[in-house]
This record gives sequence, structure tokens and C-alpha cells, in this order.
Amino acid sequence: MRAIRRFTVRTVLPAPLEPLGELAMNLRWSWHAETRALFESIDPDTWAAVGRDPVRLLGTVPNDKLGALADDRRFLARLRVAAEDLHEYLTGPRWYQTLSGTGASLAAPPAAIAYFSPEYGITAALPQYSGGLGILAGDHLKSASDLGVPIVGVGLLYRHGYFRQSLSRDGWQQERYPLLDPNELPLTLLRGADGAPARVVIGLPTGELHARIWKAQVGRVPLLLLDSDIEENEPAEREVTDRLYGGTSEHRLHQEMLLGIGGVRALRAFCEITGHPAPEVFHTNEGHAGFLGIERIREFTGTDGLDFDAALEAARAGTVFTTHTPVPAGIDRFGRDQIQRHFGGDLACPGVPVDRVLALGAETYPDGDPGVFNMAVMGLRLAQRANGVSKLHGRVSRGMFDGLWPGFDTTEVPITSITNGVHAPTWVDGDVTDLIAREAGVELAEDPAAWAAIDRLSAGSLWELRRALRAKLVAEARLRLRESWRQRGAGEAELGWIEGVLDPDVLTIGFARRVPSYKRLTLMLRDQDRLRSMLLHPERPVQIVIAGKAHPADEGGKRLIQDLVRFADGEDVRHRIVFLPDYDIAMAQHLYPGCDVWLNNPLRPLEACGTSGMKAALNGCLNLSILDGWWDEWYDGSNGWAIPTADGITDVDRRDDLEAAALYDLIENSVAARFYDRGPEGLPTRWLEMVRHTLATLGPKVPADRMVKDYVDVLYAPAALSGRAITGSAARELAEWKAHVRRSWPGVRVDHVESGGIGDAPEVGNTLNLRVFVSLGELAPADVEVQVVHGRVDDGDRIVDGTIAPLKAGRRDEHGRWFYEGSLALDRTGPFGYTVRVMPTHPLLAGPAELGLIAIPPESEGFAEGIALR
Ligand SMILES: *Cc1c(COP(=O)(O)O)cnc(C)c1O
Repeated sequence: MRAIRRFTVRTVLPAPLEPLGELAMNLRWSWHAETRALFESIDPDTWAAVGRDPVRLLGTVPNDKLGALADDRRFLARLRVAAEDLHEYLTGPRWYQTLSGTGASLAAPPAAIAYFSPEYGITAALPQYSGGLGILAGDHLKSASDLGVPIVGVGLLYRHGYFRQSLSRDGWQQERYPLLDPNELPLTLLRGADGAPARVVIGLPTGELHARIWKAQVGRVPLLLLDSDIEENEPAEREVTDRLYGGTSEHRLHQEMLLGIGGVRALRAFCEITGHPAPEVFHTNEGHAGFLGIERIREFTGTDGLDFDAALEAARAGTVFTTHTPVPAGIDRFGRDQIQRHFGGDLACPGVPVDRVLALGAETYPDGDPGVFNMAVMGLRLAQRANGVSKLHGRVSRGMFDGLWPGFDTTEVPITSITNGVHAPTWVDGDVTDLIAREAGVELAEDPAAWAAIDRLSAGSLWELRRALRAKLVAEARLRLRESWRQRGAGEAELGWIEGVLDPDVLTIGFARRVPSYKRLTLMLRDQDRLRSMLLHPERPVQIVIAGKAHPADEGGKRLIQDLVRFADGEDVRHRIVFLPDYDIAMAQHLYPGCDVWLNNPLRPLEACGTSGMKAALNGCLNLSILDGWWDEWYDGSNGWAIPTADGITDVDRRDDLEAAALYDLIENSVAARFYDRGPEGLPTRWLEMVRHTLATLGPKVPADRMVKDYVDVLYAPAALSGRAITGSAARELAEWKAHVRRSWPGVRVDHVESGGIGDAPEVGNTLNLRVFVSLGELAPADVEVQVVHGRVDDGDRIVDGTIAPLKAGRRDEHGRWFYEGSLALDRTGPFGYTVRVMPTHPLLAGPAELGLIAIPPESEGFAEGIALR
């Protein structure tokens, strides 16, 4: 029988146990082992049964048990310690609080930063993520909390989260969408002073969309999640936050409007109710939240009385945009007609004309689609600062978007990069932390430099640790495999073989990720006989643990999973290769530490960064990967292996064949050979050297603390300074100046370049004197910078790694041309070249390419004169 109404009865804790409530509701437990141990001690069986979820634990433990605990003096003493520890964590000064006055841009760091993301992966107990993007967002918040960075997260609460995966008998992915009741999650409803739930409203063509605001507390960081499943909404609007990445384009647009526009409104409500300082910086994690910029423009046109252009400058100044997508096809796009319907007509806000909104997302480059509204392009136009997520991805992004900066070299496209990181206290297994604390006497959580102490561990204990982690994974994999086979319809009597699956002493390779085609889940199946012989090798066998979800609409991805499952079902190999369904954070936390080798074989350069390999590395697992994303940056020849890429080959099949063959060779000849090369006392000495080297060198680099500090330093603090400077009349003046420069730019020209000071045969040590004549039309010398770019030239006369130096403005001649001059020392032999160029300059620009305007000498494409130095 179906209930007509549903509600959740919350546990009332006896007074002495009340601190347990706060410990359960603050998600810091998810990266604080002592707090988890306290919960586990309440009732270890229930703790395991509820999936290590404190809120569910407290809702499940019977009242008499709680009553007994309330009288248990030893438990109460431990509870007091845990509660005090949390209190100290929440209130004491941390890294960020020591910053003031330490550097130009950090002298007055932002009072608060808003971080917008469509998904957050914090713990398996709050399943609001699909993969890397969400887990990165969760790790960002956790590290911000540890560092005391005053971030407020903003996202959506999806009633069904992302799907849960299981398999059919023949290995086809099955999807389930369990209903999540927010009352059973670690969330509290944001209420106003009158006790009524705070509400956010945005306009849609079909009517108003209302949402309430849930708050998750991630250590020191509040995370606001908007939820449209409320009675004020019509059924269709209630479903806006039904699930992550499901539904039509229209559905996604509504989600993104709620996230961006509703998110800013939720933030305002939160700050007003709680007195939290207003964010000075708005960071959008991927383009999905880009409409936040439109909402902030609306705010500035309303309260500050700015016109659209001035409001755009004010909003841009404090906005940071991070792109994660290395392929044009991966970018979020809507039809212009859709945007017209949602931001025009009756829905247009005064001061925010729809044609201006449309222009922000227009693909104005040569191969752009005129019918499309592009969220990444809007993201770049609405943010004064932008970045990719690894050095390689920064380069790829600059190339991908360079059409927005015509005339500029790709290297000068203003998209920087900050390499992703992972939250060490979440991802380093407790066994690793404990061993380092015990044998080396240092606490990893407190000091990143402590990774160096890995040298003090004996080879014996390191190997024992690795074996223990592998054994834990083997046990976990058997449990999960048994569960999976039950779901696939197998009876208990059929499953005796599962006890023999995987071996705690066999070289273990892990591979888990979402299943878009570029990640090539089935590359390892390219030559099945060869794979089989590696798995079954009599002396040097390999075992492989695989997991991953395909997007529900991705039939191709599901077929890949099926191919893999069918292979792994083979009776000859099933003890050496397993597919574990329902990859999530909880599984990942077992998987990374338990593997010896983490395999990643994407099609380069389509992996923007990748983070699973980082998490593996922090547990002493070695990476075996294509040189893509972070691995391209930090592979050093002895911390793992690089799978050679067949970059130039366009025939996809042939490329896969070549790269798969290289992979097999590496595994057989290098990886397995080294793993099974045992020295004194049966230890694989050279393998352990690599483990040690991985921990010592990657340990300090990959943690999210390093990443969040980089964001503060490179993006947040400068954005806050710009935001403070570009308000009110300054925003108006900047907008007017930009309009003036854009209008006048056709009149800007490099007319003539003269050089002197060197003869026909220039030599090192000569000085080249430059005289340049430029027309500036309506502009004045203060509006522009005239530069010389010089350096080595390649065969095509292009300047490589050029040095840029400004030229000095002189007088105006009788033709109205401005005269500039400067000199450069010829300090290197070989082919050398220079060119000159004119770009707008203004103290409030973040960089010279901001307007995308440049004037170069007409007869040259970035090169004026070549000289061969002797
Ligand atoms: C880290 C993580 C990911 C992302 O891994 P990639 O290497 O970026 O593919 C996906 N899912 C889970 C559960 C993770 O923990």
C-alpha cells in the first residue's frame, strides 16, 4: 500500500549525547578518523550496516542503547574530546588567517569567496556527484576548510542524485535512482528569523520556479544546496532538481538557471540571515553555473544604478571561471532561441537586455555556430580571470578558445592553469597515516613536508603495508563481487569460486573511471589472448580490478562495460579480473590504496587533469598512464611509467592497436618484471624504491591544499582586488574607456619600423635600436602599450618563447604619427627575430589580452625582420 504522506521522525538525543548531533551533521567526520571511530564504537555492526553514515547510525540505534551510552562515563569522555576538537577546528586560526599583510595581493585577502558547482562529491553518504568534477569540488571545499579559506559552496540538491549501477545477467548496465530524503541526509534547512524556510524564486516561461535552501556543513565551509521539490511549484518545476545530468536540454537549462541565478539569491539570503560576510569573489567550477554572472549584472544595474556595460565590468572583476573540458563537443550549449525565451520578453530584467545576454554566449569565431549559446564562451566573457586544470589542459584550452582572441598567439590567450589536487585526509588510507606516524613520528595531516619522512620507513614495513592494503582490497572486492552476482541472479551454490577471486600476493592493477569513449575502458581487451596470458602467467601473474559507470544515455559506453564484463566472466580468468559495479567514493577509498598500479589510458589530450591517479599515488600505488593531464606534468621517469602515445596517428583503430601493444609490453617487461624481482628477505627492493619515491615527491604536490593555496594566490586575491577597484564610478569609467578603445581601434596602426645600430653582419653584444611610428587615431599614448617582441625564430620565421619589452613613447610627427623607441641587446647567437605590436593598456585590466585587441605591422604575421647572428 502506498503512503499518502511521508515524513521523517528525527532522533532526539539524550542531553549528554547532544554533541553527537553536531559531530554527525558536520561532514568533517568524513575526513577525521577519530570522529568516525567514535561513531563506530557506538555499535560496530549497525555502523557497517548503515554504510558508515553517522546520521543514519543515530537514526537506527535503538533508544535504550542511546540511553545506556548517556550513562557511559568513558564514552562521554571520548565524546567530549571529539566535540572539543571539532570546536577548535572550527574556530581557531588557520593558514588563511595568517595571510594578511604578507604580499601585495594577499595583503587583504577576500572576506568570502562563493564557489559554484553543479555537483559535489564529499562523502558516499551525500551522493550528489557523478565523477571527477564533483569530487574535485568536494575536495576543494574540504581543503578550503582545513586552510581556513572563507568559501561558501553553492549547488543543487538532486532528489535522486546520480544513478546507482548494477549489472544484468549478461553484463548490461542497470540504473536505479533511489529517492533521497533530505531529512535523512546531513543537511539543515535554511530558515529566516521568523522560522520560516528561506525561499528563492526565479522566473521561467512556464511560471515561477521556487526553491528552498539546504545547508551542509563541510568543516568550516557552508554548502548551500537548492531544492525545487516543494509544494509551491507545479509538478514540472518540482522536478527541476530531480537528478544530476539527466533530462532534456530545456531541463538542463532550468537546472543551470537555478544554480547560477537562484544560487546568487540563495547566497544573499544566507548572508542576510546569518551575518556571513558577502563574497567578494565568485568562482564557477565549469560553465554550468555561468548564469551567476548575469544575476550579478542584474544586481549591479539595480542597486548600484550602473548601466549594462559598467555592471558587466563590475561583475567580471570578481569572477573566476575554471574550464574542465578539453573537447569542443564536451561544452554545454543551448539554442539561442531557448535563451531568448528564458531571458527575453516578460522575463527580461530591466537593465539586462536579452540581446546583451545572447552576445555573451555567441560563438563569434570562424567555425562557430551562429544558432548556439555557448556556456564556456559566456564563462570566459563573464570572468576577468580563467584557468584550466593542468599545465597541458591550460595549453589545450588556450588553443581551443583562441578564436576569441584573434591576432594573438595562442600562448597569450588569457587562460592560465592550476593543476587539480586531491584532499589528502580523505584519500590517504588510515593504515598509511598510522604507519608514518608510528615509524617516522610525523602526522601527515598536519604537515605536507612530512612526506619526506617516508625515507625513515624500513623496506620491510613498507612492503607489509602494501600487502595489507592489497589484502583489504581483495576482501572488499570479493564482498562486492558476491553482491553483484546475487543481483545478477546467481544462487549461493553457484558462487563458491568467489572465495578464490584475487590473490593478496599478486600484482594488482586498478582501472576505474566514468566510461566516456575517450577514456578507453576496453583498451586492455585489444588483444584478448595476450591479456589472458598476462593474467595467467605462471610466475608473474597480474590481476585487474575495474569499475566505472556509463552515462545512462550512452549506449556505446554500456557496450564497453558489457564487453569487459563478458571477458571477466570467463571461467579461466575470473579469479584474476573483476568488474565491480557502482563505482563511488566509498569504493574508491578501498580501491586506490589496494592497487599496486593505477592504469589510465585516455586518448591524449582529452583528460583535462585526472585525479584518481593522484589519490592512488598518495597511498604508494604507482601510476601507469598515458602522458595526459597531471601525469604529463609530474611523471619524472621513476615515479611510475608512461604509456607511449601514437599522437600523430589519425586512424583510431590503428592508434588503439599501437597504444595497447605498448601497454602490454610495459606491463610484461617493466611492471611485472620489477614487481616480482625479489631481493633479500623476499622484498622487491627496486619496486619499493619507486613507491618511496612516489610518496616523497608527489606527496607534497598533489594534495588539494596546494591547489587551494594556488587559487587564493593566483586567482582569488587578485580578483578581490579587482572587484574592490572596479565598482561604481570606476566601473563606469572602465566600461566607457573600453567602448572608446573598441570604437577607435580600427584607427590604430603600426605605420613604419626602422632599425639601426647593427651592420650587415650582426654579432652578439650588438645593440639594435628601434624606431617605430604608430597611428593611434582617437586614442592617446596612455591608452596603449607599444611593445617589441623578440627572440629565437623557427623555420617558419615565427618567434618562439619571445621576450616582450615596452617601447618608450616620444613626440608626434607632422603626419600625426606617434614615435616610439627602444633598444634590444643581441645576447644570443643563431636565428633571431623581432616584431612590434600595439595593445590597449589600463591599470584595471587583468592582462594585455583582455580586450582581444592588437595591432601588428601589416606586412608581417608576427614577424618583422629576421637576423642571423654570428
Ligand atoms: C577521483 C574519482 C573520480 C575521478 O577520477 P579521474 O581520474 O578524474 O577519472 C571519479 N569517481 C570517483 C568515485 C573518484 O573518487
